[in-house]
Amino acid sequence: RNLTKHFNVGSRFASGGRQVVQALDDVSFDVFAGETLGLVGESGCGKSTLGRCLLRLYDADGGRILFNGHDITAMTERALRPLRADMQMVFQDPYASLNPRRRIGDLLAEALIAHGQTDAAANRARLAELMGLVGLAPDHLDRFPHEFSGGQRQRIGIARALALNPKLIVADEPVSALDVSIQAQVVNLLADLQERLALTYVFIAHDLSVVRHIADRVAVMYLGTIVEIGATDDVLHEPAHPYTAALISAVPEPDPLAQTARTILQGEPPSPANPPSGCRFHTRCPIAQPRCAGERPNLSADAAGRTVACHFPLTAGGRLP
Ligand code: SF4
Ligand code: MG
Repeated sequence: RNLTKHFNVGSRFASGGRQVVQALDDVSFDVFAGETLGLVGESGCGKSTLGRCLLRLYDADGGRILFNGHDITAMTERALRPLRADMQMVFQDPYASLNPRRRIGDLLAEALIAHGQTDAAANRARLAELMGLVGLAPDHLDRFPHEFSGGQRQRIGIARALALNPKLIVADEPVSALDVSIQAQVVNLLADLQERLALTYVFIAHDLSVVRHIADRVAVMYLGTIVEIGATDDVLHEPAHPYTAALISAVPEPDPLAQTARTILQGEPPSPANPPSGCRFHTRCPIAQPRCAGERPNLSADAAGRTVACHFPLTAGGRLP
């Protein structure tokens, strides 16, 4: 609810002093038990920061985070500890998140031991079970991270996130670092695990094509704000926000003749250190009006039942001019 987060960014090389980057600006949304919420936007829009704030890996500056009826916003690390098992993260780069000097079995056992599960025989059985869940052979537990392919390492990252039987997993671009041919396998594994283990996902991605098959709902972020949120089919087929429409038309169609009216966004996103006034998208929006530069649109349900932050939401078909 109303999450805000800023970072102070200073550079030794820049002439000026510190800059304040508003990474999250009044972000509110729900994640329902058992669903996958896709969180989509260009790099730098704040989606990773949001994922980390949800799990209290970063502390937000303002707003509240409610998890299963607990207000975890200001909980001490000690009070949070029993809940930590329920909320886990899968990282983008599985290799960077695995200590190269340790065997996979030790890396996975670490999570169990840290949460007081010290029975060696029980842990061995659990590790074998985890390997089975992610489709790896139990004898792989004796190997080191460099002995695995990228896709296998991400399976290990997923096994580690599953070790403590979580309820919620925030997956931060879990397939972006993988070969395209491997991406679908890992997305399918996550979908399969969700069904078997009744997991809830926040699935972060920089484009809509990755989440369209796994997400029940999609939230689209732009410069630290959510600009649209809704059922995946609605958002993909009838985008109400001009930015969503532009993101969708930026996904290449397999058949170039089927590609209608690609909208190419003008320029790079503005710096989050100096966001535009009013609607943050107005500097790139093809249908901006004078009102847009002066008045910030709030995220709210429009007449058609779409939740969108725009003064002039698109109707029927979500086409931009
Ligand atoms: Fe475009 Fe205005 Fe809507 Fe912003 S509020 S997305 S500038 S039409
Ligand atoms: Mg990121």
